[in-house]
Amino acid sequence: MNDLRIVHQFIELVQINSETTKEREIADYILDKMKDLDLEVLEDDSYKDTQHEAGNIIGKLTGKNENADKIYFTAHMDTVTPGNNIQPQQKDGYIMSDGSTILGADDKAGIAAIFETIHLLKEKDIEHGDIYFAIMSGEESGLVGSRHFDKKHLPVDYGYALDSDGTVGHIITSAPSQAKIYATITGKAAHAGVQPEKGVSAISITAKAITKMSLGRIDEETTANIGSFEGRGPTNVVCDEVLLVAEARSLSKAKLDTQVEMMTNALKETAEQMNGKAKVNVEYMYPAYHFSKEDKVVRNAMEAVTKIGRTPKLVKSGGGSDANHLSGKGIPTVNLAIGYENIHTKHEKMPVEELLKIPELMIEIIKQAIKK
Ligand SMILES: [Zn+2]
Repeated sequence: MNDLRIVHQFIELVQINSETTKEREIADYILDKMKDLDLEVLEDDSYKDTQHEAGNIIGKLTGKNENADKIYFTAHMDTVTPGNNIQPQQKDGYIMSDGSTILGADDKAGIAAIFETIHLLKEKDIEHGDIYFAIMSGEESGLVGSRHFDKKHLPVDYGYALDSDGTVGHIITSAPSQAKIYATITGKAAHAGVQPEKGVSAISITAKAITKMSLGRIDEETTANIGSFEGRGPTNVVCDEVLLVAEARSLSKAKLDTQVEMMTNALKETAEQMNGKAKVNVEYMYPAYHFSKEDKVVRNAMEAVTKIGRTPKLVKSGGGSDANHLSGKGIPTVNLAIGYENIHTKHEKMPVEELLKIPELMIEIIKQAIKK
């Protein structure tokens, strides 16, 4: 059994219920903890838009070095389900649940690392500039907390999300934008046995439209997929309505727009040709971000990874995180791997070795920020 402070902190955090939308208890815990650590703390009013129990929490640790870059770290307080009454266990260098729930290392490993880093900065009297810590609500509900985050709460130069799988040292330098496509395809009902020629099958329209779409891996930066296709009715009626939900993702906004337009046109044109109709709504979920080695946010992370004795690895992600919204709002943010494994499953587990590495990395990043 490992009884280090960060392990103890992590185990305490995962035992607080915080399934997404129900973040009040964990938010109050984080507010108290940050106040105990002498941070200036506020909770924003994003809950009015998200309808979640808590807003995002922002803590400021004032630094003595006024020339340092102002940086921030972010993690999220909510978890997926089943995430209530988690019973953490330690075995073979891992922390895991008892198998009946998730563990919640996503993203309480990030929160535990933030608290540990603040402790270490104080105890070791490490020189630093102003550092902000933003603990987001509603990440697992589609990044809604960060979507409704007002950037005025983070007057910083750049920062880091602590929320990716992969061993510590992996730096997620780009992540795609995602669009969701919701379509209603309308045909015309008729008796399928008596007068089928009077009907227009919404199922046939949709099936034909899909065959005209490029799907799956479109190119290096772009993917697309149909999530559901639903037309229901008795066999003796020509089906007059289909609901289709699809998505497209790309690291490039222009390519995403092209893909979405192609899918939309396939539905509309096919419907028109077959005397039906297609109504298509497109919702952009989050923007893409893309940084390179030339960007300070990446460079400092790479230097820091080297300082902790690992080799930095730059990774392109296929998914979104709070880093997408924050970068989209103009605060350069990359996501960092923190070592958790099998997230969003009951087999989720956290290697203790990686948990200990996260604050080490954060301290080195903080030191990079004061270097001229
Ligand atoms: Zn997460």
